[in-house]
Amino acid sequence: MSTHRWIIGVQALVGLLTLAAALWWWEPPAIPVPWERWQPSGASVGFRIQERKPTVPAQGSVVTLAFAFTSDLHGHLSSTRLLPERKPSGLAHLVPVLRQLRTEHPGLVLLDAGDTIQGDPASFYFSHIRPDSGLPLPIIHAMNQLGYHAVVLGNHDFEPPVSVLQQTIAASKFLWLSGNAWLDGEDRLLLPPYLVLERQGVRVGIVGFTTPGVPLWIDPERIAGLAFADLVDSAQKWSKILRERENVDLLIGVFHSGDDLRHDQQIAQLRKLPLPNTAGLVADHVIDYDLIVSGHAHKLRPRKPTSRLTRFRTPLLSPGSGGEGVSVARFTLEARAERWQLRDSHFEFHKAARQPDAPLLTELEPQLAEVERYLAEPTRVVLKKRPTRKQLNACGSALQHKATVHAFGAEAITLLPGSWFLPDLPEVDLGQPVTRKHLFGWVPYDNTLVEVALFGRQIARLLETHRRRLLGRRVRYSGWLVPGGIAAVLEGDWLRVQQKNGSSLADTDSLRAWLTNYHANGGSGLQARALIHDEQIQRRTGVFLRELVFAWLQELPEALPEACQSWLAEAVVPT
Ligand SMILES: [Zn+2]
Repeated sequence: MSTHRWIIGVQALVGLLTLAAALWWWEPPAIPVPWERWQPSGASVGFRIQERKPTVPAQGSVVTLAFAFTSDLHGHLSSTRLLPERKPSGLAHLVPVLRQLRTEHPGLVLLDAGDTIQGDPASFYFSHIRPDSGLPLPIIHAMNQLGYHAVVLGNHDFEPPVSVLQQTIAASKFLWLSGNAWLDGEDRLLLPPYLVLERQGVRVGIVGFTTPGVPLWIDPERIAGLAFADLVDSAQKWSKILRERENVDLLIGVFHSGDDLRHDQQIAQLRKLPLPNTAGLVADHVIDYDLIVSGHAHKLRPRKPTSRLTRFRTPLLSPGSGGEGVSVARFTLEARAERWQLRDSHFEFHKAARQPDAPLLTELEPQLAEVERYLAEPTRVVLKKRPTRKQLNACGSALQHKATVHAFGAEAITLLPGSWFLPDLPEVDLGQPVTRKHLFGWVPYDNTLVEVALFGRQIARLLETHRRRLLGRRVRYSGWLVPGGIAAVLEGDWLRVQQKNGSSLADTDSLRAWLTNYHANGGSGLQARALIHDEQIQRRTGVFLRELVFAWLQELPEALPEACQSWLAEAVVPT
């Protein structure tokens, strides 16, 4: 071996050893697990099973207990502010109702079934635009004032940044409950599973549950390290503990989970997740509960007072959404054989009061005024007339595509929601600029843009609802995607997807397309039906689609799309 070769050999060996050492020391970049070291604070701190001794009531005593429920508030404070609506709703409109209930039942227990802090413009603003305000979210301030006892963690509550949810839990004077959100691989719950209260000598257990469908809708980094267990198993687990070790006399399960098993069943099974909507299944098969409360589906039941809820084996109550009112359950218990026995029940719904509570809104005025200024920001576009639903959707789809192209490049292909919302457009708004307020009405959801590498076959699957729509069939509004940057035309019953150069998209062609995080994560089941793998997700921008459209209308880099010109016009700038 020549000296030269020998030196190269040594160099190669040194190189290899250096590489080995580097590999030895190198650790793959850790995926941040935002919940790993977190511990609940505030009212939710320090849960433990307390092994309470049974209560022994005096023979023959009779008591009536009352419970009030709301659900799916989505941050909504008042139908008179931010995005005004005709029908009274919002937490501030429940103050008079609750005041009246408390005069009848001073020990009233007030609970909420979740999806509390996301949806309303004020929640969006103080979660994403000004998360540093140092104040609790307005809805949490109001709930603290109203004396809530506990709130169940809902899927949408994971949409604000993790730090906002963590600060919210800390700032709440009530407990946040979830008996099935576990820190993965650990025997540790994220939150307390239940709350035990005593009312007139009766011990009441209140358990909260979160829909295990959370990963279908929420960005992975928000819930990294968390696992959501099956609700039937979890309901059984905690009812046993509450009945046998805490010796509760009355047991209420508050579920952020709908009662219709079939809803989102297929997508959950494809994703190997426990079923998202099992409150009804629990009510039929887990016999230990005296009442099941079911949120998440935005249902309201019963509307009329009744002493019997017979649809399921255990009475199941659904408290509606957005603070449309308060659902109330009253239980009369009688002491027999040294135990409290349920004698009868009564269920009713109290509509939101016409007027919001003025003192509560006054307390929140600086925050509301700040959000109103944010919502009042104008675009360079004027409202000519009220759009029809069809005009709104056509214009909305065109704007979403244009705004995405403007932000992410001329080649951008979009598969974005085909349906916008059509709230009332007051007469006074006509002839005036489109503001951010209008955008919040048309696009109420906080979806962000995600870039996904897709095969032609997957694009065809994602456009299946579009095909059905073109054929005049009904599709779930949240599952309708419209193509941008590619054309989709019906040929008989079939959809031909055409690329920009006019060629048909083949099953094996590969394209990058922009979707919302809702659809890319699994919302409406599209992700599973198109068999989109996590690794196909190229980029999560965190850019809100609604904000992107707003910015485009504010800048107006080119003429309004044709599809918008029937009801929108470019503002005339005075010279
Ligand atoms: Zn929900």
